[in-house]
Amino acid sequence: MSERSIAIVGAGPAGIYAADILSKSGLEVSIDLYEKLPAPYGLVRYGVAPDHPRIKQIITALFNILQRGDIRLIGNVDIGVDVTVEELREHYDAVIFSTGADKDAPLNIPGVDLPEVHGAADFVYWYDGHPDRARTWPLEAQEIAVLGVGNVALDVARILAKHPDDLMRTELPKNVEEGLRKSPVTDVHVFGRRGPAQVKFSPLELRELGHVRDVDVIVYEEDFDFDEGSEAAIASSNHVKQVVKTLVDWTMKEPEDFTASRRIHLHFLHSPHEIIGEDGHVTAIRTERTELTGDGTVRGTGEFVDTPVQAVYRAIGYFSSNIPGVPFDEVRGVIPNIEGRVVGDDGAPIPGMFATGWVKRGPVGLIGSTKSDAQQTIGHLVEDAMIGIIGDTAPGGDSMIAELEERGVRYTTWHGWELLDAYERELGEPLGRERLKVVERETMTAVSRNEPHDGKLY
Ligand SMILES: Cc1cc2nc3c(=O)[nH]c(=O)nc-3n(C[C@H](O)[C@H](O)[C@H](O)COP(=O)(O)OP(=O)(O)OC[C@H]3O[C@@H](n4cnc5c(N)ncnc54)[C@H](O)[C@@H]3O)c2cc1C
Repeated sequence: MSERSIAIVGAGPAGIYAADILSKSGLEVSIDLYEKLPAPYGLVRYGVAPDHPRIKQIITALFNILQRGDIRLIGNVDIGVDVTVEELREHYDAVIFSTGADKDAPLNIPGVDLPEVHGAADFVYWYDGHPDRARTWPLEAQEIAVLGVGNVALDVARILAKHPDDLMRTELPKNVEEGLRKSPVTDVHVFGRRGPAQVKFSPLELRELGHVRDVDVIVYEEDFDFDEGSEAAIASSNHVKQVVKTLVDWTMKEPEDFTASRRIHLHFLHSPHEIIGEDGHVTAIRTERTELTGDGTVRGTGEFVDTPVQAVYRAIGYFSSNIPGVPFDEVRGVIPNIEGRVVGDDGAPIPGMFATGWVKRGPVGLIGSTKSDAQQTIGHLVEDAMIGIIGDTAPGGDSMIAELEERGVRYTTWHGWELLDAYERELGEPLGRERLKVVERETMTAVSRNEPHDGKLY
């Protein structure tokens, strides 16, 4: 039996792990990994915060996989735009979608359309230098609300509150540094609907928040309530226990402990009710006090609190984008699938179509979880190949690349990424940084393709 050609769409951790596992599956395959950006690594590069170098180091493991040379990276190709899914399916025996999640989940409360209400994803893309997103960011508010109690909310609150000087060792793009330096912020208020035992922070990330220079973390005793559901959660999870301990420790602080010029306030049992505006601008966030009902869920108390803020960030979750030609569940924001086998409207698997990562199971879980996810998806792909559901007759990737060239698509390669990677490191060196990110897409593409460029960074 001859080699099967497999296309993977999306070079984030899910796509790279899927490629790695597939290459070691025993199946004879050629693997093409498509990515719409000229840089691989997905949200590890464009989601993980710049002041988390330890997490960014996961890139080294992903680099080692792609460096081997048995997986062909084809960057700067947007599937659904530069190439249709139908075309891709004609050229390959099977296609795996690992396109992640790239949008903010919607929040429907009055005032959400005011101009100072931002999505966390958009802000993260700005500070992480995504080439297709905003290059400037309005940082004019002194008091800011962040809605949500997950790690993204923590990242957003921390980056908003941190002094830019403390980000200067990171890969922070130049335009972001300039933007952050103008921020007059003094207070960031993080709001969560449920209690301290229900927050979704990781213990380490939360503890880190307490060590940010010249930023105090303030919690409020009246926000601390533990019902039976909370006690059960604390007893059954070490993770919850650690988070609660950190939060409770912070309640012991005395007023004289608060000396910093900037503060992050963590508010629990506050459900966002309305964003209040005056003359078309945000002036406050109205929250409804909630109470625990016994099982860890909450109900409203009818008591409302207004906190003055001039900007609001929604950090209540990510949502995937629809790719034309691929089934999409508009409610859950995922590609409908059974354990990674994509299913059509009739609920039956579509032969040769798979999904993995955040687009498969929704935008939850750390990078490590995309590996087990990929194992399951690839397991089913191999099974389908063994029983002949996936054939070995497709023309394969070379014909697709010939097609891209004919269309003038300026695709990039692994070697191209090596050039861009080296370029960014060179830019960072005189500044004492590991790299300085290039945000401008044209420069990214031209450097990768060894073409002339004007060196514009953003
Ligand atoms: C703000 C934020 C901070 C995070 N911080 C951490 C952290 O500190 N530690 C941790 O473990 N996890 C963290 N995570 C979670 C982690 O980023 C995810 O678990 C992981 O990135 C999901 O991987 P994925 O490959 O499914 O999706 P992604 O990482 O989103 O990768 C998807 C890739 O597909 C590409 N793509 C999309 N559409 C197309 C298309 N049509 N054609 C071609 N390519 C396409 C995208 O450009 C992207 O490169 C964070 C997430 C966010 C949002």
